[in-house]
Amino acid sequence: MIVEVINTGTELLLGEILNTNFQYLSRHLNNMGFDVLYQTTVGDNAPRMKQSVLHALERADIIIITGGLGPTRGDITKDTIVEICGLECYLDLDTWGRIDAFFTKKGSCVPANNDKQAMIPVGAEILQNDVGTAPGLFICYQNKYLILLPGPPAEMTDMCEKQLWPLLEKKFGSQGIILSRTLHLRGIGESLTAEKIDDLIIEQSNPTIAIYARHGEILIRLTAKAETRQIAGAMLDDYEKLIRKRLPQYIYGVDDESLPAILGRKLLENKKTVAFAESCTGGLASSLVTDIPGSSEYLLGSAVTYTNEIKNRLLNVQQETLQEFGAVSRETACEMAVGARKLFTSDYGVSITGNAGPGESENKPVGLVYIAVATEKVVYCQEHYFHHSRVENKLRIALTAISMLLNKINQENDLEE
Ligand code: AMP
Ligand code: MG
Repeated sequence: MIVEVINTGTELLLGEILNTNFQYLSRHLNNMGFDVLYQTTVGDNAPRMKQSVLHALERADIIIITGGLGPTRGDITKDTIVEICGLECYLDLDTWGRIDAFFTKKGSCVPANNDKQAMIPVGAEILQNDVGTAPGLFICYQNKYLILLPGPPAEMTDMCEKQLWPLLEKKFGSQGIILSRTLHLRGIGESLTAEKIDDLIIEQSNPTIAIYARHGEILIRLTAKAETRQIAGAMLDDYEKLIRKRLPQYIYGVDDESLPAILGRKLLENKKTVAFAESCTGGLASSLVTDIPGSSEYLLGSAVTYTNEIKNRLLNVQQETLQEFGAVSRETACEMAVGARKLFTSDYGVSITGNAGPGESENKPVGLVYIAVATEKVVYCQEHYFHHSRVENKLRIALTAISMLLNKINQENDLEE
């Protein structure tokens, strides 16, 4: 069944509050198998709200409207729906009693305005509000369904959990299930990714495929709709296999698996430890690694070595190296990685040195970064360029360093096999 969500409130249009109600509703409705195909935001304005609802009635089976059920003159949603559907209202004593109890509990009388909230359109089913005073409404009109929910997120979500979701299940039965899976890729761009799976994108119907770029990585989201979770899961498995065949070396994780989480798992599996020496990222790579619970098992320590003097004193980067090649150089990165490994007696030492921008330093271009990984026997170093803002660059550099270590560990494991 096709669903349209209409979120009302001028404050939404002004950008004063984020439309979290829509995110909550669409997530749940999609999980229940409903096709949420449209979303409209409209201000507290009767003619425009009426127009939005009439438009929704043309294209959706179920229209869920949030907000505007309060006691003030600005709350016009119920009146608008009553006008469209040509309904009469009556004073519902049960609802009035609840509103009365709500205020009595707070030690006050029902304000005159709140009477309005107990006026119920004839034929509407009432969705009780256990958190506030505005009841929700479920109205059947010309074989379509209009569902009115209060705007305050706490009231709306409580009402959905306790009443709306069970009611939708009872009225409309199972809508099947929609399952999504996101594959995370690194080391490949958006257009090349799209090119490799172009035929799948062209042919897509169920599952559908969407590609996004985020913080230097690519996400491929697969979405399947089926009768049961098992069938949807199997459809996603088949598609994932197809995509993995096309892009074997780039996919590092699925769904919530983050790079630091995967690195942590690998280090634990291999019983290895790591230490970082960070310059331009100011400790961000280490911080991301420590976002994972239990990281103290494998992260021994890190040094933020910003100045040349500290690079020399803490990590034993040679003065000659710094003078001859500069702090942002392959040579310095290698000595930093070796120095971190020694300083913290870890299995791997990872170093980051670069110019995060926006200004040039040492006559080195903005965004030039060297990342090195030292193991017991060798030091690997990569040169990278980052072109974003300073803060975005830092995040991308830190993730690249973590990714580089992960690749090195995988390569070592492959060689051992
Ligand atoms: P209303 O019942 O429309 O007057 O909404 C009351 C309050 O709930 C608003 O002032 C917002 O703070 C909040 N609210 C309403 N609609 C939304 C929405 N779509 N997303 C998040 N918060 C909302
Ligand atoms: Mg409002």
